Amino acid sequence: MGRPILVEPPPHLADLPKDGRGYLVPAETPWTDGGPRLAGLDPHRSVGLAIRRACCVCGFGLAEGSLVWRTLAQKDAARTRVHDPRFSVDTGFGGHLSCMIYSAFACPYWATSAGKLGKKSAINPGAPRGTRPAILGHRDIWILIHEDPSRPFLGPPSSNPAEPLFGYIDLTGDVPFREPADLIERYEVAVADDLENIDITAERQYWTKFDEDKLNAVIGEGLKALTGKPFAQQILYNNEPRTAYELPLVV
Ligand SMILES: [Zn+2]
Repeated sequence: MGRPILVEPPPHLADLPKDGRGYLVPAETPWTDGGPRLAGLDPHRSVGLAIRRACCVCGFGLAEGSLVWRTLAQKDAARTRVHDPRFSVDTGFGGHLSCMIYSAFACPYWATSAGKLGKKSAINPGAPRGTRPAILGHRDIWILIHEDPSRPFLGPPSSNPAEPLFGYIDLTGDVPFREPADLIERYEVAVADDLENIDITAERQYWTKFDEDKLNAVIGEGLKALTGKPFAQQILYNNEPRTAYELPLVV
């Protein structure tokens, strides 16, 4: 077993698969033949979750009208508040507040101010979390598709693929913390709120290594749905054109 976690998982997370150490495996985690790789972020699963507008941790849908949450290191949270409160871009898809707070308790990166992302991390390799990271809530989230055929979306690594990106609209919620223990009371409220809003009778969007075909079918269906779908906005990100679409692409 891994190190102890201060809180119990919310009921909508409790039955997720576990890794060899007993940690719950979030929906966005890459699966290899050896099993889930907990510190990673799988771009294919992120896109599958986005297509169905489902939480990156538990895989259940994000209720309409509820905020979409993500956890950011101190520096990234500060930049979003000051420079990009209306629209900011991230490589990871968002989720429920209770799922994000539980992840802050469970993941060693968020546990202490010394936390640093792994050097091989896809997002900000080696980035320090800082003394005051935050869980930020946004009114909505879009998927940003790179439509240049020379950078195939989700293509193999050898094809210089364009990574999936997500646009976070209107910063509306802000839950800063120094240690995860600061979040215990907020967690209890978030769990109660999310229990009212999450439809756990709906299909969970979750793919283990045995579900790759199902995941590929969801991605294929989602990308097909883009044909003829009105886009929300066209943007230039890192000097490359992207087209933003509202979610879900497929219900
Ligand atoms: Zn969730």
